Amino acid sequence: MDSKILERYSRNILLREIGGMGQKRLLASKVLVIGAGGLGNPAMMYLTASGVGKIGIVDYDKVSLSNLQRQVLFDVKDIGKLKVEVAKVHLNLLNPNTRITTYPKELSVNNVEEIIGDYDLVLDGSDNFSTRYIVNNYCFQQKIPLLFGAISQWDGQVSLYDPNNHSACFECLFPQQDNFEIGASCSENGVLGPLVGVIGALMAAEAIKFVARVGNTLTNEIILYEALSGQMRRYKTSLRSDCQVCGVKKTS
Ligand SMILES: [Zn+2]
Repeated sequence: MDSKILERYSRNILLREIGGMGQKRLLASKVLVIGAGGLGNPAMMYLTASGVGKIGIVDYDKVSLSNLQRQVLFDVKDIGKLKVEVAKVHLNLLNPNTRITTYPKELSVNNVEEIIGDYDLVLDGSDNFSTRYIVNNYCFQQKIPLLFGAISQWDGQVSLYDPNNHSACFECLFPQQDNFEIGASCSENGVLGPLVGVIGALMAAEAIKFVARVGNTLTNEIILYEALSGQMRRYKTSLRSDCQVCGVKKTS
């Protein structure tokens, strides 16, 4: 690594768990961020700043005035512009060493392969369950690790599905047959602005740990944060043998 690179990432490298080897892993990593909204904003900023080699961003939405309450990568000049394009400009200024690839489209079963392709890790911060199920299914099939974060009003959560490490997938935790609310969004329920910062930054922290191979990952565990009570807790999760995606007893 040249001196500018060493200086830029010195605070990572000084962490003995990361060191030069962990930083090299970060520099070589390819991470996809699904959703350039409240969770995606802080996640992609910290991943870019930390030196992830390539970041893909998926979102077809445009910046609106009501986004500015929590999506801190955007400002009033960005209203009406595609989120992924605005994000790319900011992230390129933050760290020109990170390659940013944008996907201004709605993720679907038809394009999931083309988009997720060969990324090492997927961060799902999307705002709907249908996207989450498509992503989870694809990550199971292709054995791609998936970090998912979600927020609602005052509460947030983060967990990791690692298909290579026999862990509970998104469907195990939130089975489609239970009819989780599809479309219950911030626009309907409201959300505390900094909550997305907490959860998005947690996603970035877990992603960095996973890529650099340090610390305990959230495999078979979930972090729940309740902003109203100020409590953060970590719970065990478990595989469901009847899970329709990863279960050994699935019926379909
Ligand atoms: Zn499962």
